[in-house]
Amino acid sequence: MEFEALKIRLINVKERIKKAAVDCGRDPESVRLVVASKTIPEDTVREAIKAGVKILGESYIQEARDKINILSSYPVSWHFIGHLQSNKAKYAVKLFDMIHTVDSLKLAKELNKQAKKINKIQKILIQVNISMESTKSGIYEEDAQKLIKEISLFEHVSVKGLMTMPPFFNNSEIVGPYFLALRNLQDKIRNEAIKNINMQELSMGMTGDFEVAIKEGATFVRIGTAIFGERS
Ligand SMILES: *Cc1c(COP(=O)(O)O)cnc(C)c1O
Repeated sequence: MEFEALKIRLINVKERIKKAAVDCGRDPESVRLVVASKTIPEDTVREAIKAGVKILGESYIQEARDKINILSSYPVSWHFIGHLQSNKAKYAVKLFDMIHTVDSLKLAKELNKQAKKINKIQKILIQVNISMESTKSGIYEEDAQKLIKEISLFEHVSVKGLMTMPPFFNNSEIVGPYFLALRNLQDKIRNEAIKNINMQELSMGMTGDFEVAIKEGATFVRIGTAIFGERS
């Protein structure tokens, strides 16, 4: 993609984020853009960084390793937004500032072990399967609180909030209740005041529905297509 076109798309997305925040009385600074760069070649990602992108979200460990290595001189933050297998935890803790997709005690335990080895406290979000679709990753809402309590005992992972992927994510009309449900769950867990848990983040909203997500309280929106075009 041509640099100018990429820049214009990025500016456009940032404007839409700002407008969505202002329209519902939120501080636009409270919503951060995670640019979803899976399958996007490193040259294009470099252009995005030069155009001002600060957070990149990758979905596959091997692909991310190569890209992050090549682009290591840039002061950007890398987040993991794909499905993470426990046997890849050792790579994930080295590569990512935040992992959005923790949904089991087994995975959290492995991340804790691997983060300890490199003397790091790994920031994570808990992925919640709000819509309870069997094909989807994420813990069910009713089990989230228990999982977070268990994870709170680990010294090398720190839960910062929740993440979800609603169904029908290209139909912004009907996703609102799923985002609202995630925010209500956040409130509920906050009220528990679990030691070592700071539930400030809500990672929700993609190209098709990020404005709705912002209205419902998103602090991270994960956007790829609106910036890079359709993935091939
Ligand atoms: C690819 C991806 C996105 C970005 O989706 P777009 O529709 O291209 O904006 C967001 N979140 C996750 C988890 C993804 O895998």
